[in-house]
Amino acid sequence: MKSFAKIGLVAAAALALSGAAQAQAYPDRPITMIVPFAAGGPTDIIARIVGDHMSKTLGKQVVIENVAGAGGTTGITRALTATPDGYTIAMGHLGTFSAAPATYPNLKYDPLNGMQPIGLAGGTPILVVARKTLEQADLKSFVAAVKANPDKFNEAHAGLGSVSWTTCTLLKGQLGVPKLNAVAYRGTGPALNDLVSGQVDFMCDQIVSVAEQIKAGTIRAYAIASAERSPALPDVPTTKEAGLPEYQIEAWNGIAAPKGTPKEAVDKLVDALNKALNDEGTKKRLLDLGAVIPTVEERTPAGFAAVIKRDADKLSPILAAAPR
Ligand code: ASP
Repeated sequence: MKSFAKIGLVAAAALALSGAAQAQAYPDRPITMIVPFAAGGPTDIIARIVGDHMSKTLGKQVVIENVAGAGGTTGITRALTATPDGYTIAMGHLGTFSAAPATYPNLKYDPLNGMQPIGLAGGTPILVVARKTLEQADLKSFVAAVKANPDKFNEAHAGLGSVSWTTCTLLKGQLGVPKLNAVAYRGTGPALNDLVSGQVDFMCDQIVSVAEQIKAGTIRAYAIASAERSPALPDVPTTKEAGLPEYQIEAWNGIAAPKGTPKEAVDKLVDALNKALNDEGTKKRLLDLGAVIPTVEERTPAGFAAVIKRDADKLSPILAAAPR
C-alpha cells in the first residue's frame, strides 16, 4: 500500500474512533437535577451534598434547579417528561415516588413503570417537631391536647403527597384526628422558618433540615418515628420511648431519570451516586444531619425500585382513604 493511502486509512480510523468516543462522551455538559421543593428543605440539602460529589466523578457540574409546587409533583413531572438523555434527572423522595400516585389520581408520571430509577441517596428519619413556645412539653401531652382540641393546632406541610403531609397524615390517622388546620408550603424549608418564628404549631419532617434547629433549641422535637434514636440527635426519644410506639415511618430521598435514558448515562449516574456515598467527606456531611447512608443494594436502580414499591404498597391504602 502506498504510504499516503496508509496515512489516509489511519486518519479515517482515527476519525471514526474519535467519533465513537464523542458519541460516548456522556456527560459533555452540565446535568440538571430538579429538586421539586423550595431551597433549604431536606430534598434540596441532600441534592446539594450528593450532587457536589457526583459532579466530581462525572466531570461536569450537577446543577440544582428548584421547581416547587403541588407536593413535589410539578418538579418531578417536569423531570420525568424531559428528553431522556441523561441531562435532566430528579431528586425525589418517599412522597413523590411512593405516596403521590395514591394521592393524585391524574398524576402525569408513573414511578413504578414509567421512570428510570438511579438509586437511593439518603434515608431520612422522621421527627414530629413543634414551635418551641407550644405549651405541650412532650409527645404524650401533645397527643392528648391534639385529641382533645384538634381545632387548636396548625400543621405545616409541603403539599399533598409530600413527605411531611404523608407522614403527618399517618400520625393523624393513628390519633383519630384525620383533619387539622394546615398550611401548605412549597417545601419544609420555608415551613421550618415559620415554625421557628412561631407562626405554625407543628410538622412532621425529615431529619436533615430540622436537626440543626433542634440542637440549637429553636424548635421542639417530640420524637423520632424510628426504631432507634438517631446518633445525630441522641437526646430525642423514639416514638416508642415517648409513648406512641405504633407511629413508625422512615422516609428517604432518591434519584431518578426519565424512562428511556441511555444505559451508558444510567450506569455513569449510578456509579457517581455510589462514589458520592462512599466518600468520607460526603458521608460525614449526611451523617451529621442525621441521614442514613443507603446500603449498596439500595443504591442500584433495582434496589431503589424495590424500596419505592414496598412503600407505595404500604402507603397507598392509607392515603387513598385520607381526607384532603
Ligand atoms: N421534605 C420536602 C422538602 O424538601 C418537603 C416534604 O416532602 O415534606 O422540602
